[in-house]
Order: sequence, then C-alpha cells, then structure tokens
Amino acid sequence: MGHDVVIIGTGMGGLTAGALLAKTGLKVLLLEKGAQPGGYVVSFRKQGFTFDATGVFVGGCEPGGEFDTLLREVGVQLEFKKIDAIRNIYPGFEISLRGGGFDHYIERLKSMFPEENQGVERYERIISRIGVEVEALSEIKWYKKALFPLFFWHLVRFSETTHKTILDRLFKGHELKMALSSLPVTVPPSRLSFLFVATLLNKVISQGAYYPKGGMGVISEALAGSIERNGGRIRYRTEAARLLTQGNRVTGVVTHEGEVIEAPTVISNVSLPQTFRSLLSEGPPSSLARRVDRLEYSLSNFIVYLGVRAAPELNSLPFFTYLRSISDLEGEYRMLRNGEIPENPTLIMVIPSLIDPSLAPEGAHAVKLLSVAPYGYRNGWDRTDRRSYQALKDEMAQRLIAQVESRIVPGFTAKILFHEAATPITLERYTGNEQGAMYGLATTPRQFGRHRPSNRTPIKGLYLAGHYTRPAHGIVGAAISGSFTAQMILSKLKG
Ligand SMILES: Cc1cc2nc3c(=O)[nH]c(=O)nc-3n(C[C@H](O)[C@H](O)[C@H](O)COP(=O)(O)OP(=O)(O)OC[C@H]3O[C@@H](n4cnc5c(N)ncnc54)[C@H](O)[C@@H]3O)c2cc1C
Repeated sequence: MGHDVVIIGTGMGGLTAGALLAKTGLKVLLLEKGAQPGGYVVSFRKQGFTFDATGVFVGGCEPGGEFDTLLREVGVQLEFKKIDAIRNIYPGFEISLRGGGFDHYIERLKSMFPEENQGVERYERIISRIGVEVEALSEIKWYKKALFPLFFWHLVRFSETTHKTILDRLFKGHELKMALSSLPVTVPPSRLSFLFVATLLNKVISQGAYYPKGGMGVISEALAGSIERNGGRIRYRTEAARLLTQGNRVTGVVTHEGEVIEAPTVISNVSLPQTFRSLLSEGPPSSLARRVDRLEYSLSNFIVYLGVRAAPELNSLPFFTYLRSISDLEGEYRMLRNGEIPENPTLIMVIPSLIDPSLAPEGAHAVKLLSVAPYGYRNGWDRTDRRSYQALKDEMAQRLIAQVESRIVPGFTAKILFHEAATPITLERYTGNEQGAMYGLATTPRQFGRHRPSNRTPIKGLYLAGHYTRPAHGIVGAAISGSFTAQMILSKLKG
C-alpha cells in the first residue's frame, strides 16, 4: 500500500499531525520505536498503581481552550479535571491557592507584595497585549505582514527580551521575581524568552492547569485511536534508521530491519540531532544540519514514582507542591549546566490520585517527585557500571524523599510502599531525546518565535513536528506544532 505521509515517532507532535492528516483521507503511517504511543506522554502500571512517566499537568483544556479545540477537531473527547490546589514553597515565604488560573495567582501576589502592585499591573498589561498580538498573528492578512512592526509592535519590541530584563525593570524585591519564575522551563530568567512566558500565560495556563481522568497516557491513546479510526496505521517497535532522499527531496524511510517505506512526505517527530545527524547522514547537507550543533537544548529530569499508604496528612495535601530552597536561580542553573546537582534541589511533588482515585488501590496514593537534572551528572550517571548507576539513582531518590519528609510531609518515608526512579538516561533510552532533554529546545529568545527552527525543512517533502520546532515545547506546544505541520502539508497539497 502506498503512503501519502510517513511520520517518524508518536510523540504529541507526531500524533496530532497524524490525526489531522488522517482525518482528511490521506494515507498516513506512523513508525514508533517503542511499544505504545505518546513518547513522553505515557502512563505505566505497577502493583495496582498508575503512574505518568513524565508530565504533571496540561493547559488549554477549558471549553474553547487551545488544547480542547485541537482534540475536538480530531474527534477526541476526554474528561479533564481542573487542578484545584497548588502550594509553592520558596525560601522565606509560600503561596497556597485553591482554584483559579493565572489571574488568581496574580491577585495573590498583589495582596502579598502590595509595594510591587504597580509593577504587577504593568506586567499583566504587557502580557495581555502580547496575547492579543499572538492571537491576531494566526489570522494575519497580507497587508499586515507588510506592515508587521506597526501591527505587532509588542512582538517586535520584545522578540530579543529575556524574562529577567522585564522582572528587573518592573520589580524591586527578589521574592516576587522568584514567584513569577516557577514556570515549566529549565532555563533561568536571564536565558528565558519573555515572549514565550507571555504566550504560555496567555494561551496555555491562563485558565489554570488540568489533569486527564485515567492518567496522561489516555491523551496519547485517544489520539492514536483517532488516527486508526480514520484509516491511518501505527506500527510499534519499528524504528526508523534512515531517510531516503533523491537530490534535495525526501522519498521515504528505511527501518532498522532494512524495510524500505516510500512516501512523498515525511514528518520527523524525533530530535533535531537524530533527524539531521543520523537519519539524514547520507542526505544532502542543509543549513539546518549545520545549525543543530549550535542550538541550546533543555536540561533533563530525575523522577521518583512512589506507591504510598494514604493518611490524613497526605489526603489534605494539594495536587501540586513546588519546593524551592535555593534563592539564586541563576547560580542553580549554572550548577546544573555544569553537570552538578545542588544539595537541596528544587522539586515538584504531585499526587494525581487525589483528584482521580482510580490511579491507586484503595487506601493508597500514587505520588511522583520531579527535579530538573543534568545528563552529565557524575559522568552520565555512571551508566557504564550497572551497580554504580543503581547506587546513584537510589542516592538521588533518597535525597528527594528526604526533602519531602523534612519540608512537606513529616512521616512520609514510613508510608512508602515501594518506589522506582527514572534518570535522564532512562528518558533518553525510551524516547530518543538526546541527553534526555525534557523540553527539547531551550526557550531562549534566539530559539523562540521566528528564530525557532521552522516546521518546514530545506529538504523538500521533509517536515518537523514536536518540541524542537515551532511554536514551543510542552504537551500543548508539541501538539500545536503537529497542527502547524499538518496545515503546511495540506496547503501544499492543495497547490
Ligand atoms: C519529566 C518531564 C515532565 C514534563 N512535564 C510536562 C508537563 O507537566 N506538562 C507539559 O505540557 N509538558 C511536560 N513535559 C514536556 C512534554 O512532555 C514534551 O515537550 C512533549 O510531550 C514532547 O512531544 P514530542 O512531540 O516532541 O515527542 P516526544 O515525546 O519526544 O516523542 C518522540 C517519539 O519518537 C519516538 N522515536 C524516537 N526515535 C525514533 C525512531 N528512530 N523511529 C521511530 N520512533 C522514534 C520515541 O519513541 C517517542 O515516542 C515534560 C517532559 C518531561 C521529560
């Protein structure tokens, strides 16, 4: 059977592109090296508990929200539960919230730091103006393109600006800057694109964060179901080894087993280094291939999955607790970039079974701890020696558990039934993201907006989808990248 489009990888980007293209009647084939769809967005079961391999929350799930709209377009209906309680603990102060989105958080900051109110209001105003321009960008008319700086003044003005520049300009105290920096990124304010922050706050988490009933994996399974209902195919345990090219045009994919699959259009949902160094090793040189080495990738993560006996002190915790013991965000990042892990690393604790009891057996909770971590820690986690690797993994897991015990839930350790951990090496092995990059490309001003690698590559017929391309990382960011790519392919086919 001939294929119109072959997609390498079933991450959020690949699945979304696949679902949108299959819906139009195109013959779509997805190749996935793993045994299930989703890449980072998968769940697994252990001793009656369901754990999400990586993600914690997803945004844009309110009716009419960015993600809700995308899912509806491909006939996917899921039940999302609103994450109604969070607690952010910082050195010297903390913020606990019940319900609400970004507005709610901002109101709390105003009441906690009244001396900064003027700055907070200006921050809100700039964020919302950028939101209006980002919205208008999707319906841009030719005359607006020609007069871009006039109609998109904020997008032009802040395109090179970091979050730190804005925070330093608007606020006096370090506390407020810290409270506005607890974002899903691995770069510190001095390297973070302010336009990304504004887009995230406006388009993804403005109405708060959500969790899908059944666990994160249901999102990927539902998208895979949509592809198959519309005649598309997904082949699991099938790894792409090479892209076939003729001159400057892609003509198909060769699998690890040597099978040749021809197609005029290929979407790569795998990392940029893999696409341009391994898959295209014999292909024509491209400007993007040269750029790949100079790009900045996100850091990775260390994750602990725990089955825990329920107790009143656990039942009354929020879904999400953020614990930061280090005030110097820039210093912490430098340390991580150098392959070191601070004594008390910043961590996130989530308890999804608080809002979806089906994820844990009766009388127990599924708990997850996450902490940004470098791939290079102790020579790549001493992975060449199984025993040392295991010892390092245990030591790091115990370090995070000890922080929960001393700062969040006294008596936590005694309630643990079992635990398991994942390192940056695990993330790389399962998903092929080099060095276990949790968010693909780092969201610096030089790698956001028009500076981010385009979904269209210099090789004809070859496209990208996922968190290495536009618009951004995250479950919603990668899904939207898939929709950008699908739209490009469809408009090309229409001529
Ligand atoms: C610890 C952690 C926590 C996170 N938390 C959140 C969160 O709370 N909210 C949020 O929105 N985002 C979160 N993210 C980020 C988000 O999960 C990612 O940005 C997004 O899912 C990436 O999707 P992707 O389309 O780029 O594909 P990926 O998830 O990178 O998947 C790529 C797929 O390609 C497959 N593949 C690789 N090579 C080949 C090959 N040669 N042949 C065939 N298949 C191949 C892989 O097996 C994989 O299935 C988190 C990420 C991590 C790691």
